[in-house]
Amino acid sequence: MRNILKESYIPFGSQYYRAPSPSRNEWENDLKNMADNGFNTVKFWVQWRWNQPSEDRFCFDDIDELMDLAGRFGLKAMLNTIFDVAPAWIYHKFPDASMVTLSGRKIGPQTQPHRQIGGLGYCFNHDGVMQHFFQFLAETVKRYTNHPALAIWNVGSEPELTSSMAEMREYADDASKMGDMLCYCDNCRVKFRNWLELKYQTIERLNISWNRNYTSFEEIELPLTRNTFNDIIDWRMFFVATLGENVRKRFEVAKAIDQGRHPLMCHHVFIQGFPVTSTASDPWNVGRFGDLHGFTQMDDPAMIDVLRSCAKGKPVISAEMLMLNGYTLDLPRSIDINDVKRFIFSGIAGNLKGFIFWQYRPEILGREAPTWGLTTLDGEKTSWLQDFARVGQVLQKNADFLLEAQPQSAEIAISYNPENQIFIWAATGNEKNATNSLLGAHKALYEHNYNIDFVHPIEIDEKLLSHYKVLIFPFSYLIDQRICHLLEDWVKKGGLLIGESYFAAWNRENGHHEKIVPGYGLPKIFKARQGVVDPVNTNDLVDILVDSDVLDNEEEIVVKGAIVQERLISEGAKVIGYFPDGSPAITLAELGLGKAVLIGSYIALPFYNKGIQANGDFLAGLIKKYANISTNYCDSLGQIRVDLLKNESGQMMLILRNLSETAINTEIHICGLIPKLLAEQFSAETLNVVYQDNDSSFNITLNPKEVKVYFGEIF
Ligand SMILES: [Zn+2]
Repeated sequence: MRNILKESYIPFGSQYYRAPSPSRNEWENDLKNMADNGFNTVKFWVQWRWNQPSEDRFCFDDIDELMDLAGRFGLKAMLNTIFDVAPAWIYHKFPDASMVTLSGRKIGPQTQPHRQIGGLGYCFNHDGVMQHFFQFLAETVKRYTNHPALAIWNVGSEPELTSSMAEMREYADDASKMGDMLCYCDNCRVKFRNWLELKYQTIERLNISWNRNYTSFEEIELPLTRNTFNDIIDWRMFFVATLGENVRKRFEVAKAIDQGRHPLMCHHVFIQGFPVTSTASDPWNVGRFGDLHGFTQMDDPAMIDVLRSCAKGKPVISAEMLMLNGYTLDLPRSIDINDVKRFIFSGIAGNLKGFIFWQYRPEILGREAPTWGLTTLDGEKTSWLQDFARVGQVLQKNADFLLEAQPQSAEIAISYNPENQIFIWAATGNEKNATNSLLGAHKALYEHNYNIDFVHPIEIDEKLLSHYKVLIFPFSYLIDQRICHLLEDWVKKGGLLIGESYFAAWNRENGHHEKIVPGYGLPKIFKARQGVVDPVNTNDLVDILVDSDVLDNEEEIVVKGAIVQERLISEGAKVIGYFPDGSPAITLAELGLGKAVLIGSYIALPFYNKGIQANGDFLAGLIKKYANISTNYCDSLGQIRVDLLKNESGQMMLILRNLSETAINTEIHICGLIPKLLAEQFSAETLNVVYQDNDSSFNITLNPKEVKVYFGEIF
């Protein structure tokens, strides 16, 4: 992080300006107050519609004034270029600019609660619109590249297909709204065919994948249903590619003008609220571009791990901390110091190097009014503004350490595959079945104090896999052949592979269901295969009785599976779990130095959706027993999260968070490091660490939701 900033500081501050609010007469006083509160960074939006009101007129007087004020008060500015708000003249100049839904509805130009000025709805595949889009970017970068207050260009702010129109995303979780699918405009029609030709090269290859008999690419029909898989996966992945190309070009245009004077940031959105099926948002796709990455942070550590994983070693920051999100008469609860610490230090623990709060003043326009703000409506101090500022002081005090420090590296990886996400949506009508399975697996391990990465097919190769001891594929019906072929060697070398029902059962290359499941010959790894499968009723779960000796438990564990009851046939694996009818439900195979566990149902999903704790404990228990991963340990599992960062100069930070609503007294063992003297960074109290046999431990009481942060030297 230090390499890309001109000075040593942790970017810390807030979003300020989304025209036309706050009002001009408030700017000077507000920016002065920010600086007085120790903020060093302020974010302004440069909006296409607002700042280019007509084709031949750019109007930057507001941003000019704000940038000068930022400079005057010593604040560093992040400029967000906002493109989804296209000017009104764009829609007049190009009557075919709008996206078109599957049901034939022309979209926009329209507003959103967070796009008060309107202009949403144009298609990324309209070349005429795109020409003006990039012209606006070029003009903006030219205007501010030499401004002394400018610190970071945020040119990729939440890129996604539905352009902030949240209601257009909903069909990914509710197939009855599928008529809203975008985009069926004439430009997308033509470009999709061209994209297919590039992908498949010959129509014969496409015919194999789609099971068709087209005689040319001109004959191809756009997918209109989710009844067949490979065509609809291609259709949605075409928009992932469209978005990636758009973001790539933003960086190309900005870099050509800025010439490396400032870091370029891509600020992307989370998989929880932005299904890839409807938004084309695949963090790894846009994560390829830019010097640093930001994300919109909510209260979920899985988001942090996704961001860090897809940024591939580039610095990451929280570009929008959403802590007071709400709408008119749908208000958030007010926040206290532990809430602020929880957000910021869960981020620090996950390697975030900056925090920009959304937003300084409460919103006064549209349905986001009157919430979101660090101040009162009239700009006065709140207790949470003071809390936020106090946490900022502790970050700056430790800036030199934090800029160099790294968390303990993850040895567990969870597979995220956009094509599997789309497949699960097509199959079940709800992409959340895939997403919540990923989140469930993550939560189970996070609560047990493991560090976790996510991995994506575009990066998976032998070298990447060699960094991990455990690979989990939650609800992975689609895993491509290349990856399946890498798994055998990886397990033989000592990996622990964990899979769920219908593992790799869709043959993506040839567009058909595998006849033996797991697919692609994988029964030789699992030493088990699928037998008879029965459904589990939608709101029911099926019991799976796990042998008590499997996880060294005193009592039998009952795990609960969702959607299917896939009876397994062992071909050399040990059966470690049974359905109520006595048939094999979970198998454990040994292969070379490694192991492979196959679960004949879906268990990460009900852990996430229904809080079935036994499922989470079982997943974590498998890792504890069968993978050699040492982790920080505390007696109160699932309630206290323990994180460590260290630098190369022998310093460390220990972050303790009470995740529960009750006070907890517990003993904590630190793994891998022996701390010398640890001082709490808010209270200055020191921690009494006991050393015995190369182990360091201490006893501590944490109040409900309390967060403590210690800094010190390592022996
Ligand atoms: Zn289109």
